[in-house]
Amino acid sequence: MNIHLKKLGLILILVAAIVGASLAFSGHGHKKVMPAKCPVCHMTLSTHWTKATPVAVQLKKNGPVYYCCNKCKMPKSALYKVPKCPVCHMTLSTHWTKMTPVAVRLTKGGPVLYCCKGCHMPAKYLVHVKKTHKK
Ligand SMILES: [Zn+2]
Ligand SMILES: [Zn+2]
Repeated sequence: MNIHLKKLGLILILVAAIVGASLAFSGHGHKKVMPAKCPVCHMTLSTHWTKATPVAVQLKKNGPVYYCCNKCKMPKSALYKVPKCPVCHMTLSTHWTKMTPVAVRLTKGGPVLYCCKGCHMPAKYLVHVKKTHKK
């Protein structure tokens, strides 16, 4: 009997924890800066592009851009529309490639995007980032 009750208690605690966590998540989320979680696949979103998180998403309009996994069924409305380069008009890349090695930030607080070497990007847009692929 005792063991039974203990088990039940444990289950209740677990349930409470799960409910609590999901309530906290569906709340307004303005409290502390917590790592953002994907509302679709529930993984912790990355603040920068990695091979595991190549999909740029913007959960709130004008909010920060995060990166989720490419298995995620993120609605189109939540996908970050990668802007075009204001100078050379190519669509910018969300991550460093050989073709797009120049890191730029077009808006204050916006994500770092990458443009081609040949672009005459004004210096105010240039970002000096440490290479993210080394760890
Ligand atoms: Zn996701
Ligand atoms: Zn450009």
